[in-house]
Amino acid sequence: MQISRLADLADRAACPRLVVKVGSSLLVGEDGLRRCWLEGLVAEIAAARARGQDVIVVSSGSIALGAATLGLDKRGRGNLADAQAAAAVGQIALSGLWAELLGRHGLTAAQLLLTLEDLEDRRRYLNATATLTRLLDAGAVPVINENDSVATQEIRFGDNDRLAARVAQAAGASAVLLLSDVDGLYDRNPKDPQARLLPEVRGVTAEIHAMATGDSTSGLGSGGMTSKLQAAEIAELAGISLAIANGTCEAPIARVVGQGIGTLFLPRGRKAGARKAWLGGRLRLRGALVVDAGAASALARGSSLLARGVTCVEGVFERGDAIAIRDGDGRTLAHGLSEYDAVECARLIGRHSSEQAEILGYAPRSAVVHRDQMILL
Ligand code: GLU
Repeated sequence: MQISRLADLADRAACPRLVVKVGSSLLVGEDGLRRCWLEGLVAEIAAARARGQDVIVVSSGSIALGAATLGLDKRGRGNLADAQAAAAVGQIALSGLWAELLGRHGLTAAQLLLTLEDLEDRRRYLNATATLTRLLDAGAVPVINENDSVATQEIRFGDNDRLAARVAQAAGASAVLLLSDVDGLYDRNPKDPQARLLPEVRGVTAEIHAMATGDSTSGLGSGGMTSKLQAAEIAELAGISLAIANGTCEAPIARVVGQGIGTLFLPRGRKAGARKAWLGGRLRLRGALVVDAGAASALARGSSLLARGVTCVEGVFERGDAIAIRDGDGRTLAHGLSEYDAVECARLIGRHSSEQAEILGYAPRSAVVHRDQMILL
């Protein structure tokens, strides 16, 4: 059974495993921690568990909480050092709070702090999968945040929306519920009286991206609608449904499920295999190969990428690194693992596969990106 409407988020058969992401603005208000609100949400999580659903929490709020404790201005987001110091202070309080409130319902909280690299490296990703699976089997509620205090700008997720989608993928979840301070995706700026909330989206197209102009204005989180759509794209490739809903009211899950207020992103077509979905969701790519129109249509038909269709090599990458494949207009067509490093790819541009051995002195593969190591986006 698959999710086809928001009410299914509370259905054990359609959604045996749910990731709930809580934005900073929900946890920390003008007057500090919104403890009563969190108690209400935890009761809803306990109810989901009682229905037989696994729940994984991705909780923001460490920076906002820590900044208040340390008295940092701009809510701790003035610069990276402030944010990292604030997160170090706030994270202790945040996990303590989740552990305490879940504990009141007889549930055990388990903290995982992840960086982008933990989920971009295939082995570490699989390890995170094993840990999450074990925790859920043992009956715990994983409470996850980005490891903000150690992640440099380079290796940051930067927002927990994408982290939640990647975690859902790693944990084999059926759905992600992003709770924030907006009702969902509107077809135009929500301040416009003509704006209409979109109940359902199938496929995050360029048109959908163009609608994401009315971002959250709370200033506490880092994501906004843009990162929510990126999260929806990751989920879509992994065959996971993703909902955006307003969490500000007292029982937010009941509101989404009971009243159906929110936007549900449904995956299109066939789900990519686990390895390909992981590749498609990768956020950090080492470079890109630009291809001509002939190669672009060959890729769309499921072919491997051959050097003769490559027109330009960007970035510095090694053999085996993840790269983007783009068309001449800058559209990303695919992600894939390169069979050659960037210098070799540059030497092979436009050349026939039969010439590769002569040019490089070796030619382990005829394709520069093999179709088994590639996912079309
Ligand atoms: N990891 C950040 C925190 O806990 C939040 C990131 C986000 O805004 O999504 O404060």
